Amino acid sequence: MKIVVIGAGVAGCIVTRALSGLPGTEVLCLEKVDASDHSESGTGLNVGPNAIKVLRRHSAVLHDAVRERSYPWKSWRISLTDGALLFDLPLSKVADNEGIRIRWSELYAALRGATGNLIRYRAQVSRLGYMEGRADRLFVEYTENGASRRVDDIDLLVAADGRYSVARALLAGAPTMTQHGVAIYRLLVPDTTAGLIDDYEQWFNGHNRLLAFRVPGNAIYLAGTFPIAPGEDIPERAKDASYLRALYTPANAAPSAQCRWLIDTICANVAAIHWARLQESPPLYRDGNGHVLFLGDASHGMVPTLGQGATQAVEDACLAADLLAQRIASADAGGVGLAVPEALREFERLRADRVAFVMDFSREASDTLEAGADPVAGALKKLEAPFQQKLARLYRDVPEV
Ligand SMILES: Cc1cc2nc3c(=O)[nH]c(=O)nc-3n(C[C@H](O)[C@H](O)[C@H](O)COP(=O)(O)OP(=O)(O)OC[C@H]3O[C@@H](n4cnc5c(N)ncnc54)[C@H](O)[C@@H]3O)c2cc1C
Repeated sequence: MKIVVIGAGVAGCIVTRALSGLPGTEVLCLEKVDASDHSESGTGLNVGPNAIKVLRRHSAVLHDAVRERSYPWKSWRISLTDGALLFDLPLSKVADNEGIRIRWSELYAALRGATGNLIRYRAQVSRLGYMEGRADRLFVEYTENGASRRVDDIDLLVAADGRYSVARALLAGAPTMTQHGVAIYRLLVPDTTAGLIDDYEQWFNGHNRLLAFRVPGNAIYLAGTFPIAPGEDIPERAKDASYLRALYTPANAAPSAQCRWLIDTICANVAAIHWARLQESPPLYRDGNGHVLFLGDASHGMVPTLGQGATQAVEDACLAADLLAQRIASADAGGVGLAVPEALREFERLRADRVAFVMDFSREASDTLEAGADPVAGALKKLEAPFQQKLARLYRDVPEV
């Protein structure tokens, strides 16, 4: 059975590693960047307890590789930028295990390292589709070190090529992004706080929010948000130190020591900021013929408020790998008899409700980022039973094959 995975990101690495170990499978993973390019553009991540729970069940090796390069994520605090504490939640109240805090580059290094020589780097996919006259065999064309290459007779294509998935665009049309009228920016900076900032925290000044946590490598990951006109680009005047300083400086008090450090650090590093907007796209799990599986951001772009992008990519990949392993093992002759469309339908049945819940909950939790939001009322709502029950469902009720 020939399987091609596009993208050696979070989902692609997990699924490549798992499927290549199965009898009768031939797996090729195509990745456009170089082996040494563990992009820092995302800078840092908090990965939810639900991903860690699924990953540990799927593979102790991968779980340990990721944990070794991260710090535990044990608590979530929300304050105002003047230091008034609104919310302090130990994750043990709503989760069976910790989440993690990790540099983006280290997450990729751990997952790619465990996938070994199965990844073909500098191999950028440009075209793909079903072979002439076949509804069950695909081809992929890619460029590797300037040379054009083609793979034919693919039984299963796994599209794990991220938010701007070429596979999704070519097979189903690029998804429509819904913009939520919030700018979000990120930075990774050296930790000069002397312990002022450690586990996951958020600080609000009205609807403008800061977020930060410490990651291995003596660094602080920080992010900020502020409302913008829905559907509009982030105005250039907002990408300026004095504009950003004003957003987070409380009107009638001095900023707390934590927030003073954050505000000064943002203002000193404006040129290094990675800018984005809060957006999401509708989920898609498989193509019409049933031989293409979409995972991670290629399947569903969600708002990042609950840190569920990479987290759900892990859930997707572990579940897809476990399901396919089970189906291949029970098919004839090393997967030759596997009914791929049926297996992908089963995957969609397993994922659709869960992903819908996570997307809805992530959107609901973004209420305090919207124009005019009241952070005190928003934090109080997060202390109430309905929100905490949803958090427990998010972190604990991970699906199983
Ligand atoms: C700044 C930032 C901060 C974030 N913070 C968090 C967070 O705190 N917690 C969280 O859970 N999520 C977070 N996310 C989201 C998270 O990073 C993504 O949801 C996650 O990486 C998705 O994993 P994936 O495997 O689907 O795609 P990716 O990890 O994006 O991997 C896709 C891979 O495909 C490759 N590729 C793309 N096109 C091609 C092609 N044509 N040919 C070959 N290869 C190709 C890419 O090079 C890449 O390696 C953040 C995202 C950003 C941008």
